[in-house]
Amino acid sequence: MRAGIQPLILIVEDETDLVTLLTYNLEKEGFRTLASYDGDDALLIAAEQRPDLILLDWMLPQRSGLEVCRQLRRNAKTRDLPIIMLTARGEEADRVRGLDSGADDYVCKPFSTSELLARIRAVLRRVSPRVTDEVLGYGDVEMDLAAHRVRRAGQDIHLGPTEFRLLRHFMQHPGRVFSREQLLDVVWGHDVYVEPRTVDVHIRRLRKALNGNQETDMPDLIRTVRSAGYALDASAPSHAA
Ligand code: CA
Repeated sequence: MRAGIQPLILIVEDETDLVTLLTYNLEKEGFRTLASYDGDDALLIAAEQRPDLILLDWMLPQRSGLEVCRQLRRNAKTRDLPIIMLTARGEEADRVRGLDSGADDYVCKPFSTSELLARIRAVLRRVSPRVTDEVLGYGDVEMDLAAHRVRRAGQDIHLGPTEFRLLRHFMQHPGRVFSREQLLDVVWGHDVYVEPRTVDVHIRRLRKALNGNQETDMPDLIRTVRSAGYALDASAPSHAA
């Protein structure tokens, strides 16, 4: 969130009554808004305007909200924009699909304005200080960026520079799934050619450093999402490194 400027929210929803209602309520609370009624338009607006947050309806004509979400995450210009999915689907499996596709949060219809505002504020708070905070925390992991120190459950953890950058990126976006290609871009940079397989090697090292040996029996914090990538997720079922 840019200091001193009211956050800009992009509303992507084909039901015009709901757009009107959301626009009214968000502007009343001091947000600026933009509206888009289909996915293709939303992708263009998001890339051009770079809103502070996107409210994205799941059920859209042509492209589904889920597909729009994936597209937003694939484009370098929109990949970091916070997304809250709006949907009538309340099933656990759908919730997981929404979050796996890159959404930061999820609100089920019908929702109250106060609930939606609370979610928006929480996501904005989570996203903006995370990028600048010197100390990041997730579960029992603490990462001091200035001191270049990582601790888990109070124990120092030694990481190589690549594993440090990987963990920092995960800690800045907990729960979000990143593909190997996205991690390559973020951690190694666009100009360097590194094989996607290299990411697996460093993830393995990071896991080993974080989880310790089997005797310590620490829950695995890194979730492998088959054919998709990796996420920092304390609720993940453990996987052998
Ligand atoms: Ca809709």
